[in-house]
Amino acid sequence: MADKIKDAKIIFVVGGPGSGKGTQCEKIVAKYGYTHLSSGDLLRAEVASGSERGKQLQAIMQKGELVPLDTVLDMIKDAMIAKADVSKGFLIDGYPREVKQGEEFEKKIGKPCLLLYVDAKAETMVKRLLKRGETSGRSDDNEETIKKRLDLYYKATEPVIAFYEGRGIVKKVDSELAVDDVFGQVSKAIDAL
Ligand code: ADP
Ligand code: MG
Repeated sequence: MADKIKDAKIIFVVGGPGSGKGTQCEKIVAKYGYTHLSSGDLLRAEVASGSERGKQLQAIMQKGELVPLDTVLDMIKDAMIAKADVSKGFLIDGYPREVKQGEEFEKKIGKPCLLLYVDAKAETMVKRLLKRGETSGRSDDNEETIKKRLDLYYKATEPVIAFYEGRGIVKKVDSELAVDDVFGQVSKAIDAL
């Protein structure tokens, strides 16, 4: 099963909370037919199921912390296997959150051909998240948790970008721009694959 995934195109979509990862992924799905897997969405689905594991996850996410690596990776892997036959490629959104997560992903699943770095200023991300929080129903879209998520992003996730820059697969897009202009840059990166 895992062999099939190995041949699929894998794109890591990395950026701070509220930078616009989900927004761009939706547009990629519409234009290129990729499969979008958001680690956060997978985890929130588990929480919504009301399972015991979901309850533990909820407590961690509420604090703005990272859930155990194996939990996220297993969920992503299962979701990839479920789509392996029909997928043109995978958008892994919001993962890896730290270098170790990237290393484990490669050991268990495969190598990304591109890391899409969705870049926005901290100030912009906070503004967007507070706005999103008005309707998202996400318990982590509040001022206190947002601050923790941002701190963790700069500490743990920015090194991920440096790690893959060393491999020459990072494409940075300017997510301060309007959604469609950001997507213009995204499209260029994907067309070049
Ligand atoms: P992420 O998945 O990275 O956390 P989202 O895609 O959910 O971010 O975007 C966070 C919020 O910012 C959403 O409400 C979205 O509509 C808005 N947003 C995303 N990209 C842009 C953009 N380029 N310009 C303005 N608003 C944006
Ligand atoms: Mg998102």
